[in-house]
Amino acid sequence: MMELLKKISEAPGVSGFEYGISEIIKKELQGFVNKIEEDRFGNIYAYKGNGEKTIMITAHMDEIGLIVKHIDDRGFIRFAKIGGVPDHVLLSQRVIIHGKYKKIYGVIGCKAIHIMKEEERKQLVTYDKMFIDTGLSKEQLEKYGIGIGTPITIERDLVELENDLIVGRAMDDRAGCYILIEALKKANPVNKIIAVFTVQEEVGLRGATISSYNVKPDIGIAIDTTIAGDHPEVSESEAPVKIGNGPVIVVADGRRESLGGGLLANSLIVNWLIELANKLGIKYQLGVLEGGTTDAAAIQLSRGGIPSGCISIPTRYLHTFSEVLSKRDLESGIKLIIGLMESKISFL
Ligand SMILES: [Zn+2]
Repeated sequence: MMELLKKISEAPGVSGFEYGISEIIKKELQGFVNKIEEDRFGNIYAYKGNGEKTIMITAHMDEIGLIVKHIDDRGFIRFAKIGGVPDHVLLSQRVIIHGKYKKIYGVIGCKAIHIMKEEERKQLVTYDKMFIDTGLSKEQLEKYGIGIGTPITIERDLVELENDLIVGRAMDDRAGCYILIEALKKANPVNKIIAVFTVQEEVGLRGATISSYNVKPDIGIAIDTTIAGDHPEVSESEAPVKIGNGPVIVVADGRRESLGGGLLANSLIVNWLIELANKLGIKYQLGVLEGGTTDAAAIQLSRGGIPSGCISIPTRYLHTFSEVLSKRDLESGIKLIIGLMESKISFL
């Protein structure tokens, strides 16, 4: 488990630059599925099974990250953010700049505390006050193929914590990719499964929008991660999902205070997933999740409307570069997705 999880967590794949992770996924699925395709946008499609109903199951390959915006005469790099990157987790991170000819390490720097004025010390340093130092001059960076538009990822290993927990980068949504890969390897589907490893989720569900039109499924299911609030500074009522208590069957999600732009999961699908979990003895949680959404929100609006649902893995510290989740939840997620691939659909 850890070997593959580590490999896909550490692979680079900022939105729009998913080739690092997509190569690994294609290789990993070789021999386990009937066919693998890629579209012009970079979405990867894996086909398995030959049932009468088509189920599209997605996990997004892309991760939040940075992109080179400007390089000054001394070689210091200014960057823009891709996806919801909080400024307060950026400072002093080690980064990898994915130059055309070479990967270069760098560090996100800012003014030292010693020379900050009293008021400066109390303020959050915003990303526009930060820069990346690689040690290289502007000319040297250019030689490695680093310039405006070069993607940047945060460097971080996946490691195990105690009690079946793991911490790693980009678990949103490499956790979903991992579950989908493992389920595709093990399942004997009775439905036509089209697994889509989507691109550009973090910048507005773009890969899912395109791929769901291409696939034209009967049912859409997204696998993603969601906020677990079982730690200090969050009340239980604010974010009731807990890690280790099983995957979340999403009932609704979307923007805070309105659930706009999100998913109101198809109730027949929610009930089907609950029944499946009960039948397979899988512990699960129900979720009404404010503050974000998943690929399922795009799939449901495709063509004439696609009944859709979402299964999310509870994750602490989402959209930081040290996301914590439980190996047990991942195992349960795999079981549930295999169950879904292998069960007849009678409700549509
Ligand atoms: Zn995600």
